Amino acid sequence: MIFDDLKPIVEGGGSDDSLLVMSGPCSAETEEQVMSTARQLAIGGVKIFRAGIWKPRTKPGGFEGIGKKGLEWLKRVKTETGMLVATEVAMRSHVLEALEAGIDILWIGARTSANPFAVQEIADTLKEAKATDVSVLVKNPVNPDIELWIGALERIYNAGIRRLGAVHRGFSYYGKSIYRNLPQWRIPIELHRRLPNLSIIIDPSHMGGKRELIGPLCQQALDMKFNGLMIESHCNPDEAWSDKNQQITPEVLRFILSSLVVRNENRDGESLQNLRRQIDKIDSELLELYNKRMEISREIGRYKKEHSMPVVQESRYDDLIRSRVAAAVQMGMSADFMKTVLQAIHEESVRQQIEILNAKIPS
Ligand code: PEP
Ligand code: MN
Repeated sequence: MIFDDLKPIVEGGGSDDSLLVMSGPCSAETEEQVMSTARQLAIGGVKIFRAGIWKPRTKPGGFEGIGKKGLEWLKRVKTETGMLVATEVAMRSHVLEALEAGIDILWIGARTSANPFAVQEIADTLKEAKATDVSVLVKNPVNPDIELWIGALERIYNAGIRRLGAVHRGFSYYGKSIYRNLPQWRIPIELHRRLPNLSIIIDPSHMGGKRELIGPLCQQALDMKFNGLMIESHCNPDEAWSDKNQQITPEVLRFILSSLVVRNENRDGESLQNLRRQIDKIDSELLELYNKRMEISREIGRYKKEHSMPVVQESRYDDLIRSRVAAAVQMGMSADFMKTVLQAIHEESVRQQIEILNAKIPS
């Protein structure tokens, strides 16, 4: 089966066996910046250095990467610090030049993995170059489309790459949020369910977009048992040429990594099982209650049909959400969570009532 024969992304890439850590600047800017950041990271025990050489910027006119000469600096990082090096590739020429320079890990950025033509071009180039031992990481596409993400991974896998991994960096959205890119954790969780052998690395820098969110997002990644972290760091973050708000110094990185709590699955096994049994019981009660609620909702649908009433009554819906959310907040739950649950229930009720309304035979 596809993905069954994957190899580790790299041998010994983590500070311990279970967590792969890669760090370095958003962009390679100057040789001094690259070397200074790399040396400090190496002293802190980081084994994989990342730096963007070709930068996909949202708008033209920004710093679009130092280009090929940055590869020479990455080679120097490799020889002087012993770290493995990683950079982003988005087209054929990038892949060829990166392979030529002996880059250990190539990653496909979020804008590129949303484009099957570009991913296929990268895959074809890797295949032609017979580069089966290079590691490739596929970032999630900017839009929350798990099939597109898996499709990109499959294209690279089909090119013979077995040191393959995914990077979750969050998803674009329109509107307001504390995140630069929404985590939408259920998507990488579903990716893990579908492809259990595939390592998933979390990129809290692009997800959070600000320094203070990096620590908490790293902890969440660990708590959910993801396999690694890709964190942007810079010897002088305030002066960075790209993504300066989300870059931290190697020293702050060391502090964050040392404060992460690795939770042990086997500790308290008995009481954990007990708690899980309680959760199972509550879930089955919830299922019965949902079902009961849907039956009543269908009954209301039949009433509305008889009396030629519309299915959705805005004011009733608004009142319902407002009162339930207020009660939930009082109980200590989050308003967003309760809104999501109520909206899902409401959508299903509406769907069922519309079915009743359109039914030819009396229901
Ligand atoms: C990056 O890693 O610097 C980058 C451009 O990331 P993304 O593709 O996730 O936006
Ligand atoms: Mn960046």
